[in-house]
Amino acid sequence: NSAVRDRLRIAIQKSGRLSEPARALLASSGLSWRESRDKLFCYGESLPVDLLLVRDDDIPGLIADGVCDLGIVGRNVLVEQAGERAEAGKPEVFREWRSLGFGACKLSLAVPDDWTWEGPSQLAGKRIATTYPNLLRGWLREQGVQAEAVVLNGSVEIAPRLGQADVICDLVSSGATLAANQLKPVLDILQSEAVLAGPAQPFGDVRAELADLLLRRMDGVLRIRD
Ligand code: ATP
Ligand code: ZN
Repeated sequence: NSAVRDRLRIAIQKSGRLSEPARALLASSGLSWRESRDKLFCYGESLPVDLLLVRDDDIPGLIADGVCDLGIVGRNVLVEQAGERAEAGKPEVFREWRSLGFGACKLSLAVPDDWTWEGPSQLAGKRIATTYPNLLRGWLREQGVQAEAVVLNGSVEIAPRLGQADVICDLVSSGATLAANQLKPVLDILQSEAVLAGPAQPFGDVRAELADLLLRRMDGVLRIRD
């Protein structure tokens, strides 16, 4: 999708952990909008920068397809989908432009409480439940460990109790859910937070100047917050 456009379109999460902080950051950067009746699209009023409100998982694909120019999404989702594309032999079309300082969490490996953790080699031949198979397989490859990724789209933490997997690789912020399922975190595979995602190649039209302006303002806001 190489159509020349004179407005910038940013995808953010419609409802969830990243929606409010993402909107707040953009508002602090001087953006204001008029919302469509279905609240899926916000038309930029102070600048020609519009918002599309979507599921977080759709954001990298929307950038890849040229439907949106930028997105605010967890690094976990961005890196997972980048890995999926690379695995399928597709070119790199989106990448992380900035880390945004909210939505922090870790992708961690957790094992049953009663295991004595001795290191990654202990995972050889085990089944690991996860929603992030590409991130997990990449890490296993780096460690030189052969294990099976069991891909689940929810309730990853009960998989060991159900006998679906031996250990899990899941997002953790407090550890309470793990403890409730008799699991303990032993290793962090990725430190995640919300990031601004954008194309791997620069824009070839007026969107370049709009993106520059927005980035300068966002950097200003993020500096003050530190
Ligand atoms: P959607 O309906 O948009 O698909 P979701 O349920 O996938 O929503 P959320 O649970 O709102 O998404 O999480 C969005 C992002 O928030 C995660 O991808 C992650 O980057 C970040 N995050 C921060 N803390 C946590 C946590 N404790 N558990 C899960 N995600 C977290
Ligand atoms: Zn999601």
